[in-house]
Amino acid sequence: MSTPVPPATASAPLTIASVEVVPVRLPLREPFAIAYATYPDVPTVLVRVTTTGGALGWGEATPDPNVTGETYEGVAAILRHTLAPALLGRDARDRDGARRALDARLEGAPAAKAALDIALHDILARALGVPLWVLLGGRGKPHLTISRVVGLADPATMAAAAARHVAAGFATVKVKLGDPDDPALDARRLAAVREAVGPDVAIKVDANQGWRTPGVAIAAIRACAPIRPAYIEQPVAAWDLEGLAEVRRQTGATIMVDEGCRSPREMSRVATLRAADLVNIKLMKCGGLGPALALNAVAETAGIGAQVGTMVESSVASAAGLHLALALANVLTVEMGGPLMLAADVADAASWYHRDRITPPDRPGLGVAVDEAAVRQFAEAWWLVER
Ligand SMILES: [Mg+2]
Repeated sequence: MSTPVPPATASAPLTIASVEVVPVRLPLREPFAIAYATYPDVPTVLVRVTTTGGALGWGEATPDPNVTGETYEGVAAILRHTLAPALLGRDARDRDGARRALDARLEGAPAAKAALDIALHDILARALGVPLWVLLGGRGKPHLTISRVVGLADPATMAAAAARHVAAGFATVKVKLGDPDDPALDARRLAAVREAVGPDVAIKVDANQGWRTPGVAIAAIRACAPIRPAYIEQPVAAWDLEGLAEVRRQTGATIMVDEGCRSPREMSRVATLRAADLVNIKLMKCGGLGPALALNAVAETAGIGAQVGTMVESSVASAAGLHLALALANVLTVEMGGPLMLAADVADAASWYHRDRITPPDRPGLGVAVDEAAVRQFAEAWWLVER
């Protein structure tokens, strides 16, 4: 007769026994284009962390080479050989200690670290039997509202996409611009979208650094001003926070910093320079939920509002971002659109979405049911890291 395994609780150590690292490629409904890249599918790396008592948690690393400085292949290798081994034998409850241990192994690699940070949060919340938002600050909002993204294309194509999103029930669209050679064409793109959606739909603009210099950005923003964008996201190169501040001062536009702010430390510089009104927090940029809380604290202290954004992530990392957004009063908007953009997913967060409303259920941990058969179907490898 076998001895029954006692249920996991958080009053005893949750000793990490193994980490599985699973790179997957998930199909998109349609290819996605922004100023610096076009994505045919989503390469992303899942992790599953298991404790000696059988508790488990899922995490995900979705790198963006242009933003996080990581590649899919690099993240998979770093997780397998460098970061996962550093967690073996540690107590999963000690999330901040884990963060320091990972930072001691390797500088950077924020998406890879985010995967493990998310998994540890999932383990602890499940062990406590509470939804993840309980660990992050509470549930200040019953649901979240999202906009749909219109990828960079010719004006007619973008207008048609925006009209489709509005017809599907979205009150806000986010338009990808950032043409360094022809800012006037960007203004025509935006005008075509406005024409297609009418005067009452909010239009957000994301240039993804495409205008590069403050001069081009200022000209483009002035050309776009008659179309009344709600805000302008990352108009200049990520490194140029002084330039971002100049654009903000010269145009009077509401500016969101995204690629230019990847850590609490960079957030502190943004605040000092008064370079932005809003910040786009992404778990993959800052290294997970722990650093995201620190980053948001700096932003809120400086009077800078936040959005929780995303790479194109599966339901696993998207769920983590959604819990963060539910928990933080300073988070005004979310853009966790990954589950809507995937033709096939590894978990069920898409079922939380109805038109432009997202209502995560109060299930323990991330609250998603990971479909292991789907993970196996899209896995390009499956590595077990253990002692
Ligand atoms: Mg952005």
